[in-house]
Amino acid sequence: MKGPTKDAHKGRPAEGVRMVNPAVECGSTVLFPDYASFRAQNRPWHYGRMGTPTHKALEESLGELEGAEHVSLTGSGLAACTLAILSVVKEGGHLLVTDSAYEPTRAFCDIYLKSLGIETTYFDPHADEAAIRELVRPNTQGIFCESPGSLTFEVQDIPAIVRGAGDIPVIVDNTYGAGVHYKPLELGAAISLQALTKYVGGHSDLLMGAVITRKDLATAVQRTARVLGISVSGKDASLAHRGLRTLHRRLDVHEASGLAVARWLEDRPEIASVLHPGLESHPGHALWARDGTGTNGLFSVIADWEDEATTGRFIDALHYFGLGYSWGGYESLCLPAWPAKVRSAVPWTETRQLLRFHIGLEDVSDLTTDLKNAFDMLKR
Ligand SMILES: *Cc1c(COP(=O)(O)O)cnc(C)c1O
Repeated sequence: MKGPTKDAHKGRPAEGVRMVNPAVECGSTVLFPDYASFRAQNRPWHYGRMGTPTHKALEESLGELEGAEHVSLTGSGLAACTLAILSVVKEGGHLLVTDSAYEPTRAFCDIYLKSLGIETTYFDPHADEAAIRELVRPNTQGIFCESPGSLTFEVQDIPAIVRGAGDIPVIVDNTYGAGVHYKPLELGAAISLQALTKYVGGHSDLLMGAVITRKDLATAVQRTARVLGISVSGKDASLAHRGLRTLHRRLDVHEASGLAVARWLEDRPEIASVLHPGLESHPGHALWARDGTGTNGLFSVIADWEDEATTGRFIDALHYFGLGYSWGGYESLCLPAWPAKVRSAVPWTETRQLLRFHIGLEDVSDLTTDLKNAFDMLKR
C-alpha cells in the first residue's frame, strides 16, 4: 500500500457502527463491568488520561508511517521534545544537542535540565562520526538532532551520528520530514518525534506532538509519559487523524509550490541566497537526497539587506503571507529570525536578514505576484 492509500485507510474501525472514521471517545472515567474486573486491573481501557480507542487509532497510523509500534502522544510538539529527552537522561547526565535545534528545545535544556544537574553540549549540525565520538563523554545519555534545522536548514548526517553514538540513543526531531519524507528510525535513530501541530495537523487549528520509539526504549518513554501525566484530548486526537488522511497529498502540493517559490526567489536581486535542501545550490542537497525522499513548503532566505526597517516594510507590504509562528498549515507565512542570538557551537555570522517562508496551498502565481509587489514597494 502506498502512502496516500495508507493515509486514507489506516485506523478505520472494523466493527461497531462502521463510520469511515474512528469514533471520537473523550472523557475521564471508564466504567468497569464488575468488581472482579476492577480488581484484576487487566482491561485495555481504564482511565481517560491513558488514552482511548481514538488515541490508539492515531498512534497506530503514526507508528505505521514511521515504522514503529510505540507512539506516545503529547499536548504539543515541544512536549514531544521534552518527553523524548526526559526518557533518556538521568541526574548527573550529559546530553548532546545540535546547535540548529528549535529554540524552545534549547531553553528546556538550558533552564530545566541544568536545574536537574544534567549538562548540555551543543554541537555543529554538520558533525560527522569522528566529531560525535570526540564529544561523547562517559555520562552522555542522549544525542538530540533536528534535520534539517527548521530555521537554518542544515542537513544532518544521521547515519554517521548514529555510528559515532555507539549505544547512546539518538533522538531526531522529525517535524520537517513529517514521517513521510524522512524516516529516522530506519536510519538508526532510537526515537523520532514530531510536532503534529505542523503538517500532520495541517490546518493551524491544533497543537500536538508524537514520540515514536524503537522497541527497546518504549517502556522508558511510556513510563515517563505516565508519571508526568502527559495526555491529549480525544477530540484533538481525532482532529490530528483527520489531518493525517490528506498528509501525502498535501505534502505533494507544499513541495511543488515550495520549490517553485524558492527558485523564483533565487533569481531575485533582493535575495542573497535561499536555504532549501531541495535546491541544487544547498550544501546539504546531496545528503538530503541520499536519506530523504522529498521536501515541503518550508525554507529560509538571506535577504540582501541588514536593516530591520526594511524587513518591517517588506513584511507589512505582503498580502497573502501572514506574519506568525508555526508552519505546516494550508496558508503561507513569512517570519523574520535572528539565529545569531541562539547559536553557541558554531556562531551565526550572517548579518543580513533571515526570512523564513512557509508556502501554503495557495496558487503559486498569486504568491509570487505578492512577493514581487512587496519587493517593488521597497524601491519606492
Ligand atoms: C513547531 C516545532 C516544535 C514545537 O511544536 P509545538 O506544537 O509548537 O510545541 C518542535 N520542533 C520543531 C522543529 C518545530 O518546528
